[in-house]
Amino acid sequence: MPLWMCDHQGCDRAAVRTLGDCLLCDRHLCSYHLRPEIHTCPEWEDENTYLPACREAENQELARLIRKINTSALRDRASFLRQGKPCSIPPVTYDGASRSSVMGGMNFHVEIRFDDGVEWMARFRRSNASSPPAAIRDYIMRSEVATLMFLEKTAVPTPKVYDFQLEHPGNPVGPAFILMEKLPGKPLEWSTATPEQKQRVMSQLADVHLELHKHPFRSFGSLDTPGDSHIGPFARESLTTFTKSGMQTIGPCCDLQDYYTSYVKLILNLILEEELYSGQPVDAYLIHRFLLDLVPLVVPSSQNEKNFYLKHADDKGDHILVDDQFNITGLIDWEWAHIAPPQYAFNSPTCLLPVAEFYDGNNSLGDDEIIFSRLLEEKGHSELARFVKDGRVQHRLDFCCGYNLMDWDGFLGLFRGLRDAVGMDNDLDWDDWKAVALQRYKNDLGLLQLLKLREERFDMDNSPVDGIDREP
Ligand SMILES: [Zn+2]
Ligand SMILES: [Zn+2]
Repeated sequence: MPLWMCDHQGCDRAAVRTLGDCLLCDRHLCSYHLRPEIHTCPEWEDENTYLPACREAENQELARLIRKINTSALRDRASFLRQGKPCSIPPVTYDGASRSSVMGGMNFHVEIRFDDGVEWMARFRRSNASSPPAAIRDYIMRSEVATLMFLEKTAVPTPKVYDFQLEHPGNPVGPAFILMEKLPGKPLEWSTATPEQKQRVMSQLADVHLELHKHPFRSFGSLDTPGDSHIGPFARESLTTFTKSGMQTIGPCCDLQDYYTSYVKLILNLILEEELYSGQPVDAYLIHRFLLDLVPLVVPSSQNEKNFYLKHADDKGDHILVDDQFNITGLIDWEWAHIAPPQYAFNSPTCLLPVAEFYDGNNSLGDDEIIFSRLLEEKGHSELARFVKDGRVQHRLDFCCGYNLMDWDGFLGLFRGLRDAVGMDNDLDWDDWKAVALQRYKNDLGLLQLLKLREERFDMDNSPVDGIDREP
């Protein structure tokens, strides 16, 4: 069973993930109904029409969410949790201008102000065509709460959780929410920070790695039970499918080889089911078929690994709150965080990658990564510094798996860098590599299935009787 069925009236095909999630008409579409002659929403390349339409769709989405929130019930709940201390909620509105102050990832934040000056916030999941189905959404939220509750026991500065409710008829607030402490500080903008400011943040970030290193787990997956250290499957929609018996999610895994092998096999299956990469299925299949061969080379089996550690899943920089002196006041947005082997958990955060060089295929460490690893060494943890120094190929594999091929130029650099790093097919441009891969995998049953399908479609599209207007 697919994640979503196509929303086109009367269609019973699987909707394509990502590519088929149209934010503008708020629908999930199959590969057939995504064709430009049928689906006529503006394309993202056309900034003049796409961006205004996108803003309008976002305004409507937030207006729908705000209408569902019962602010009196939220205020009463917050007040009850502080033994009746009065609080108020400023009018909840959204106009786009306040975006950065009220959004965090796929969440909308509502402020709660107590009369004694204490500030909380309620975190609501946004809901649009790119949101996961309810069962996965709830699992991810439960996992985020479990992660935050674990973090409260550490010295990592994170918001304290006071309450959470999933969306169900007994939830008086309406949509699912997490009620948490509002931390001071503003989101870090890494690209505009000075070297001195960056150095201060990196030193404190190194302390966070040291602190998380003191709290090992025994398994590789997501915390799934608030208040408990139980680890279950990964709380992430890209690792999830539905079968007749319900939600099926990858994990817990025994090591990175197990994780990447399961993930790449899932992607290959989804390509064959037309749930992924319907725009260029053969290219995507060849890439991931090759990645499947690379996995054992990049991440040798390490089933003796006994310790696993918490990893933030979206560490692009704005998950770090800083004060005016660039001291870290908090780390936020722990949605999708999971427990991972040390070489994954302690690799350099994404915000430290040298973006231009990284996407250009250059495998040298960036200046920030070199400073970060030196800081870890100075703090007496050369073993953690080693994960940063040896982490590039790991980053490359991670980015290439499931990458959005709409950013084709970005992908080509990433993929070339990966082939260079492992010394396989490293002297080939894309066309030459594709020719080699078609030959290499010519007996692969999945590839044969895709090539046959493409041939049939081509015949159908070029037939005067059965043209493109024929429904599948
Ligand atoms: Zn649309
Ligand atoms: Zn359809």
